[in-house]
Amino acid sequence: MSENSSSIRTICVYCGSQPGRSAAFVEAGRQLGASIAAHGLRLVYGGGTKGIMGAVASGVLSSGGQVTGIIPEFLVDMEATRHSLGQLDELVITENMHERKHMMFERADAFVTLPGGIGTLEEIVEIMTWAQLGRHEKPMVFANIEGFWNPMLDLIDHMRDQGFIHRAHLVRPMVIDRVEDIVPAILDRAAERDAPTGEEAIISRL
Ligand code: AMP
Repeated sequence: MSENSSSIRTICVYCGSQPGRSAAFVEAGRQLGASIAAHGLRLVYGGGTKGIMGAVASGVLSSGGQVTGIIPEFLVDMEATRHSLGQLDELVITENMHERKHMMFERADAFVTLPGGIGTLEEIVEIMTWAQLGRHEKPMVFANIEGFWNPMLDLIDHMRDQGFIHRAHLVRPMVIDRVEDIVPAILDRAAERDAPTGEEAIISRL
């Protein structure tokens, strides 16, 4: 399936509002942004212009791509500067966190999680929860930069080993180390999901 015929149009990125200790994290944010733009896709994200969030957005913008930032009013001065928010080509200011998260989910066709803190963790865990409950089948990726997510992945394995991950077939986040592999993997996963089943394929050939 070519990129243009993919059902993937918009990628949501969750990541830290801080830069983290390793320079590789900010670099990965920038590179992911550039890759999203190079594939002709839109970024939707939490609107922050600092830390890794800022790196992803500027990676997209400096490669000529499109960015939607969704941020609650009370966070504008904490996680962004009004000047840099003006550079996004779409800005949505929500009343609260709940509205922001819901809108990010609705607008996105896939989710990528770069290194981040408690806010980042909360967001990707909620998306995995909704997948487990069958509310969506949007591709999910842990961008495992320098093994950042290994402790989280170990925890998920531990939960599975102990019999607490039910309907595991619905929760299949991809774990990808190299940033340049992320967008192609999302496009492949969506193509696999959207491929006609055996019977539909026969009917479509009739
Ligand atoms: P952090 O990973 O803590 O730097 O946060 C990354 C992003 O997640 C920031 O834009 C935060 O505003 C957002 N965030 C923080 N706490 C929450 C929460 N409880 N639910 C959803 N998003 C959050």
